[in-house]
Amino acid sequence: MKEFNNTDILIFGGGILGCYLGAKLQESGYKTLIVEKNSGEIHESPRTVTLNNFSKNLLIDFDSTIFNLVEKHSVQQMKVFDFEGTGKILFDCIDANLKQLNYVISHADLLSSLRKKAHDLILFENSIQKLNEKNDAIEVQLSSDELIRAKLIISCESNNLKLLKFSGLNLRKREYEQTALVGLVESSCPQADQTAHQIFSDFGILALMPFRKSQNRNKFICSMVWSIPNNLIKDFATGEEFVDKFLPAMEEKLSFDIKLLSKSGLQSYSLYAHHAQNYFDHSTLLIGDAAHAIHPLAGQGINLGFADIDSLLYQLINKDDFIDASKLKILMKNFSRERHLQNEIMLQSMNAFVSIFESKNLYTKFLRNFGLKQVNKKKFLKNFFVEQASGPNKFLNKLFR
Ligand SMILES: Cc1cc2nc3c(=O)[nH]c(=O)nc-3n(C[C@H](O)[C@H](O)[C@H](O)COP(=O)(O)OP(=O)(O)OC[C@H]3O[C@@H](n4cnc5c(N)ncnc54)[C@H](O)[C@@H]3O)c2cc1C
Repeated sequence: MKEFNNTDILIFGGGILGCYLGAKLQESGYKTLIVEKNSGEIHESPRTVTLNNFSKNLLIDFDSTIFNLVEKHSVQQMKVFDFEGTGKILFDCIDANLKQLNYVISHADLLSSLRKKAHDLILFENSIQKLNEKNDAIEVQLSSDELIRAKLIISCESNNLKLLKFSGLNLRKREYEQTALVGLVESSCPQADQTAHQIFSDFGILALMPFRKSQNRNKFICSMVWSIPNNLIKDFATGEEFVDKFLPAMEEKLSFDIKLLSKSGLQSYSLYAHHAQNYFDHSTLLIGDAAHAIHPLAGQGINLGFADIDSLLYQLINKDDFIDASKLKILMKNFSRERHLQNEIMLQSMNAFVSIFESKNLYTKFLRNFGLKQVNKKKFLKNFFVEQASGPNKFLNKLFR
């Protein structure tokens, strides 16, 4: 009979968060393995992630060379517009006493660097075949037939139905009925190099994040995420056709030129939000997108995941507590309580934002325009929003620790 390979922690999902978590746990003295369903190949992609200052600092503390070597661009300002009115808000890092609001980072670069760090822990082209709970441990049979026994299973990928069924953890889901088109665009306006722009309109939410200088020195490349209502995009054969039709109106609103870089290709994602009612049961823990998915409009998805990991590592600081099954349960419940509240606040705020800007009601449109203008006049309110987007809430962290 085949022998079990014993490990402390088994992670499913070798994405950015799975690899970061795996490498950190191994570094803290936990024997860790990561199961990744795909091969290790990473394709070139126009996708970027926006790291807030908290996530950036975690990464630098972990391995500053990763942060130094990945392709990145700092964001100094952010302008938010309502397409239909004159309402807008300008967030500026100087007003908030920060060096930058956040960093836009190549998804492929960050994934590739973290995969290198966690390489020895990853079992590529593998997934769960069977799971079985036995004497405070979980026995897992992988698709490669390998047998692994772990004290704690962590899901770092958003749709592992087998793990959800096994743990009994439930996700509350909301379809946004929107598709995000992700690509790279080019502009000749220097503003596009320092300032992130976001426009809310009836033909979707367009976000442009400064990303790199073009080979043509007078041009600037931004990463684009355009979240479009499905009932609008369904009438277009391709994403490029949609962009061709609506980009000129956005250029007019922004008062600068934007051109889609066709070479980069457009990727499309169906947008949804989900949140697990609880993150831990039957020795299985949900982290990052496995526990919560959020609309990309605030660029918070991966940052909530990094904050989850920071909180988890805080709970796992003492290995003796991990070995005691009843103590481990308490630690995981502490983790779940701390992070659930903060993630729920962010999720509900994003849902409210999406609903306000989806509304066709004239009064709502008037109020949101008015609201944008009022917020723009109040520095303390803007700084409050910047602080919320910069990392976990310090007061709530203290309350739970
Ligand atoms: C259009 C769009 C734009 C976004 N923009 C931003 C942004 O600007 N800023 C931000 O913070 N967040 C953003 N997000 C969210 C962010 O991309 C996610 O939060 C982040 O990628 C989650 O990282 P992850 O490592 O947890 O998961 P993933 O990147 O999804 O990685 C999961 C890994 O698990 C593997 N896997 C899947 N199923 C299995 C299985 N059954 N067994 C084993 N392995 C499996 C996958 O192959 C993959 O490697 C955006 C999301 C979208 C859709």
